[in-house]
Amino acid sequence: MNKCYKSTRGNFTATPAAAVLQGIAPDGGLYINPGLSEIDFDWKHCLTLNSLEKAEYILSALLPGYENMKELVVRAYTGKFETEDLTPLVKVGDSYVLELFRGPTSAFKDVALSMLPQLITAARAESGVKNEIVILTATSGDTGKAALEGFHDVDGTQIIVFYPDGGVSPIQRAQMVTQEGKNVHVCAVKGNFDDCQRGVKEAFAAINSSKLLEGSGKSLSSANSINIGRLAPQLVYYFVAYSELVNNGRIKVGDTVDYVVPTGNFGDILAGYFAKLLGLPVGRLVCAANSNDVLVDFINTGVYDARRPFMRTTSPSMDILVSSNLERLLYLASGCNGEFVADCMAKLKSESVYTVPAEVTAAISESFSAGRCSEEETVEEIAKLWNNEHYLCDTHTAVAMSVAEKYRAESKTGAPVVVLSTASPYKFPGAVLKAISGSCEGDEYEQMNRINEITGVPIPRNLACLKEKKELHSDVIERDELLNYVLSVLDVKA
Ligand SMILES: *Cc1c(COP(=O)(O)O)cnc(C)c1O
Repeated sequence: MNKCYKSTRGNFTATPAAAVLQGIAPDGGLYINPGLSEIDFDWKHCLTLNSLEKAEYILSALLPGYENMKELVVRAYTGKFETEDLTPLVKVGDSYVLELFRGPTSAFKDVALSMLPQLITAARAESGVKNEIVILTATSGDTGKAALEGFHDVDGTQIIVFYPDGGVSPIQRAQMVTQEGKNVHVCAVKGNFDDCQRGVKEAFAAINSSKLLEGSGKSLSSANSINIGRLAPQLVYYFVAYSELVNNGRIKVGDTVDYVVPTGNFGDILAGYFAKLLGLPVGRLVCAANSNDVLVDFINTGVYDARRPFMRTTSPSMDILVSSNLERLLYLASGCNGEFVADCMAKLKSESVYTVPAEVTAAISESFSAGRCSEEETVEEIAKLWNNEHYLCDTHTAVAMSVAEKYRAESKTGAPVVVLSTASPYKFPGAVLKAISGSCEGDEYEQMNRINEITGVPIPRNLACLKEKKELHSDVIERDELLNYVLSVLDVKA
């Protein structure tokens, strides 16, 4: 078997299927294929394919050894998205907006989380694993629902979702706590997203190192973008956007395109970097941040300093101070130096800060730029796009649109700019309504209806029917109780 995946902390190798099943490497690192730019991949051929064929071609290249990728892709996506190309590209002003939110839960995470259950169940079958796979997930709002939607009632799996109590929008909360299914667990944590993510990683480490699950017939995996099976499907839409620009005559094959990505855990933007390593002519990848701008400072200075206040913003899916996937970029930018990465991560854990050498910062700056957008600018951007372009966007997309404008004003390369749009405006109705009308009275459902009256933009069905659904999950725990919660669901004792 092809053990082409390595842990970013240097000590483990795995086949693609094993990497997907484990979620995170036993040394706490993330799995990555260090030879991505050398694999046999014809990016020009890829551009000629339709969206599902692109997904099949890209996933087969990233995850060699899977049989029947075509069938998995078809099963993952057929009938679940609003449009056949899954992720439409729309021209808005001088930018192109890549709408990633037209899936079953109105979040961009649907693109990956429709696919991940297929990848996990196929990996389980192919490697003869009989264990029940228990998916642990920390969410800043959108991953949770998209993962629940993907995994509910999938045979051989259970899923546990942890979300920050009070740290997600009321719509996001309603989406999760109304989730039906015999294998789902949803739990609020008294803390922020970083607490949830850290708790999940610590639960992995504690359970794996004490071999608690040995003989239990269960093993753990993750639906967060630490899982390579979650990241891989996200490359597809970078190619989709590029093909669209070629097809509508905006560029010729080979011209560069810049992508602006609203960033939290650095997964989405890293997928763009992987696409570039596969040959796609990606110009710059612009990391757009809200007031939690630790990544902007890092990309500009090489100092990752999480010692700053955690801000709750109107774009909560980007309220993160510790971005997991940056670890994969550090690995690549340091020439695949696992020891270096392990050292940075140890410093981050003990001192909440680390500095990388100038060569690493320079390697990162070759492909990445960064910009920030304040809360006031987010509101202004939503209002401006509605008033001037008749385009309604959510708060996360607004952050990226605002950063894209500033970026374009500075860069002047003339390359087309694609902005990744990560959520439906109806997932954050309070902030969106306030931006377009100046007030936001009523509950979230009244706000949705009001936005619909003002704009005529249809409310996605999955959100419109939420109000009628029964709340099924009410667990709330302290942030140090996460491991115990997992153990009680697993029904094993520490
Ligand atoms: C998750 C999410 C992001 C951030 O994506 P990362 O891959 O974590 O960087 C941005 N916007 C929305 C709406 C999200 O749900």
